[in-house]
Amino acid sequence: MRNRSILIIILLFFVCHNPVLAVSGDVMLNPDDLSCPDCNIVLLTVDALRADHLGCYGYQKPTTPNIDALAQEGILFRNAYSSAPVTVPALTTMMNGVLISNEVKAQSVRRTIKNTHPFLAEILGTEGYRTAGFTDYFALTKKPFWDSFEYAKNIGENYNQATSHLLANEVIKWLEENSQQKFFLWAHFSDPHNNYNPLPEYERIFGYSSEHCGRIKNGMDIVKIRKISKSLKPSEVDCLVSLYDSEIYFTDQHIGRVLRKLKELKIDQKTIIIFTADHGEELSERTHWVGHEKTLYNEMIRVPLIIKNPGHKSAVVENTWGTRELFKLLSNLGSPQNTYFDDGVVSRTYHFWFGDKEQEDFALIKGGYKLIYNPMTWKEKLYRLENDAGETKNLVRDSKVKDIRKSMKGELFDWIKRNKINNLPELPEPLYDDQELEQLRSLGYLQ
Ligand SMILES: [Zn+2]
Repeated sequence: MRNRSILIIILLFFVCHNPVLAVSGDVMLNPDDLSCPDCNIVLLTVDALRADHLGCYGYQKPTTPNIDALAQEGILFRNAYSSAPVTVPALTTMMNGVLISNEVKAQSVRRTIKNTHPFLAEILGTEGYRTAGFTDYFALTKKPFWDSFEYAKNIGENYNQATSHLLANEVIKWLEENSQQKFFLWAHFSDPHNNYNPLPEYERIFGYSSEHCGRIKNGMDIVKIRKISKSLKPSEVDCLVSLYDSEIYFTDQHIGRVLRKLKELKIDQKTIIIFTADHGEELSERTHWVGHEKTLYNEMIRVPLIIKNPGHKSAVVENTWGTRELFKLLSNLGSPQNTYFDDGVVSRTYHFWFGDKEQEDFALIKGGYKLIYNPMTWKEKLYRLENDAGETKNLVRDSKVKDIRKSMKGELFDWIKRNKINNLPELPEPLYDDQELEQLRSLGYLQ
């Protein structure tokens, strides 16, 4: 009997200390499998790309043939979540592993940028990687985030014109000139971000037509859309979605060009490719909101995540994963640590974008459940994602899951306490200049 107890204790030790990811088809994915110290790293992110609008995540329209092909060759994380439904917090967290925890207005992103935690490009740079970053969005080009790259290219402009082709051109040019030495390259594509303004030749691919789409126009200002969003007819919502999908398709085409260039340069077999998004997008289906920022439902924070490692066969991972974990994964490629698996994902909205504390929600996603909690209003929602991916049935009053709710709420409270939310000093200076603040206002971020 005593021997049996010892055996159980030993088994429990290994179960608890050697976490592996449950993968479909009886394959288990060990953290060490992702190790590749001699590989290049290409991180491709797309702004406002919700997971359920990609073919490889079950979408019916052929929006993403090139990304789907990447998923076929790589590891697809079916349940990946962003730490925020807002660009800068989501991406800075991905790049330095630290969640933004402050309470002042939009300028406060500088606090995360200023913190003492090093950024991925900085770490990899000291490990001998050449580093290059590409974007078209000024808010991502602030010190020292942007300065952490050895080469940093902002192609200018942003959400009001198509840029994926221009961005891909720059990436391809850099690859042609720099692929001989080990490198880390990050490119952030932003065409699916509102405003939805596909080029005319892409406009009709998924059904949009100016003759039949009533009040919805290609390139319509997001602020104007929000003014009429409560009265949108289903056919007008379809038109909005078709414009969004066209932007995704356009982006996919140019991501395809980058992926083909890696093959052409014969470096695809020594390059880890990571594809993901900063956050998703609501298209009027739940609260009549169009855009992101406001809530933590799956359309806002469930994102695609594909990792193609030349040394690993293709797989689908079902476990919950946070894009924040990419920092730990990529900064430890030579010596992966087991700490980044399955400890739940915390995501939060950032009320300073709206100036309304009541908008500040926190979510914990763990063990197939999602708890959304607002410390100001005490409103809470609990969803069992496994059989309610659309988050339609709030289980907060369901006695059968009382213990799960209690334990998740305790964990979320601890997280808020640990991260000292509501307890930070004011900033000494603003991050954005007047012109940039005006641009943020026109994008609907500031009032
Ligand atoms: Zn974004």
